[in-house]
Amino acid sequence: MPEVKPDIVIFGAGIAGLWLFHHLKRKNFDVLLLEKYSIGGEQSIASQGIIHSGLKYCLAGKVNKLAQTISEMPQIWRNALEGQASVDLSKATINAQSQDLLIPKGILGDLVKLATKKALGDSVHDVKKEDWPESIKFSGFNGSIVAMNELVLDIPSVVRALADPYKDSIKKLPKAFADKPFEFLRDHNITPKRIIFTAARSNLEIAKHHGHNDGLETQHRPLLQIMMKNAPFELYAHLVGKSDKPVATVTTHKTSDGSLVWYLGGLAAEKQKDYPSDKAIAEAKESLLRYMPDIDLSDAEWATLPIDRVEGKSRTNNWLPDTPTIHKCDDALYAWPTKLTFSPMLADMVEKILNEEQIVASSNTGDFGFLQDVDYAKTPWDKAQWKK
Ligand SMILES: Cc1cc2nc3c(=O)[nH]c(=O)nc-3n(C[C@H](O)[C@H](O)[C@H](O)COP(=O)(O)OP(=O)(O)OC[C@H]3O[C@@H](n4cnc5c(N)ncnc54)[C@H](O)[C@@H]3O)c2cc1C
Repeated sequence: MPEVKPDIVIFGAGIAGLWLFHHLKRKNFDVLLLEKYSIGGEQSIASQGIIHSGLKYCLAGKVNKLAQTISEMPQIWRNALEGQASVDLSKATINAQSQDLLIPKGILGDLVKLATKKALGDSVHDVKKEDWPESIKFSGFNGSIVAMNELVLDIPSVVRALADPYKDSIKKLPKAFADKPFEFLRDHNITPKRIIFTAARSNLEIAKHHGHNDGLETQHRPLLQIMMKNAPFELYAHLVGKSDKPVATVTTHKTSDGSLVWYLGGLAAEKQKDYPSDKAIAEAKESLLRYMPDIDLSDAEWATLPIDRVEGKSRTNNWLPDTPTIHKCDDALYAWPTKLTFSPMLADMVEKILNEEQIVASSNTGDFGFLQDVDYAKTPWDKAQWKK
């Protein structure tokens, strides 16, 4: 078998791998991206697509490094969406320009507004009642609305915008090699200068298998996301409650047959693994009707998605790390973005390491036609088993 010598091989085509891949390809690196299942990842395709500005962490009273570093991300994404950044997302779809805070009447709302405004400045503004969307005006919601500069993106379109231009260099890692990526490269005589793992929860197992796990720890946080089909209107909102986290964070998505789906994260989804699905759905419904008592949910169908959030272990607290995490061992890097929002920062961090190690772009374009093609991932709402 002839030797194939790309500059870089990346394992894992979630947002972290895809952003990094596209970023390096545009800088003339010869990159092969290998994916075990489908392009779009597990967490990425299931994410809510919110490009966080730091609000969530302000609500939690954590106006810390995380809130500050993340607040720089929306502008990078906006530049990318205009085709003016290291990746070109001009073909991706923006679902909403802002995520609203729905704050029920009460003193807590004023405190929340004060805290968020203090931390995020101009990126938040009150929405006067006469400017509320008609749907909210007629929903029975009683309180105030603050609009936040938080883009909500259609993640399947982001995935395609990152992958499509370089699809010939994205290939499938056969099942037999799922846990043996180094063996796959060796058997196919592929000899990159660097190997990068953006395989989320598989990163740790792979690192262990190859004795690369010294000092490496990860954290998993279980979620039970709730999906509601036949939603009455588009809604992108954090339902603010008494706790430091939103009662629910609602984003809207479309199934392939055009039905509107409300996708609920936030506290509504923070359940232990064995939490009964029916109970979580009933609680979510109750919350939606408490905030918007006049909405009609008689046609609604429901489903849940159990999924883990996976990231590098936070060293400073039991929360999430302030930045993406990279673990380096021999000629391999293991990387987690921490949040989808942080993908640009992760790519910059990796590029810095490559520069330090004097790994330069060869400007070659490898021919990987001898490897199998890989499909795009389906969204959770297109795979869900709906029930009334
Ligand atoms: C329900 C939910 C909602 C979220 N909402 C948001 C949000 O609104 N905003 C935000 O900023 N963040 C959000 N997050 C966090 C964000 O989605 C993740 O931080 C991010 O998607 C992780 O990206 P990733 O590429 O590391 O992982 P993944 O998307 O999980 O991708 C990992 C990929 O690696 C592949 N893989 C595994 N093993 C191998 C192997 N051996 N070889 C090759 N490939 C392999 C997998 O098949 C998968 O495709 C959310 C997370 C969840 C779970």
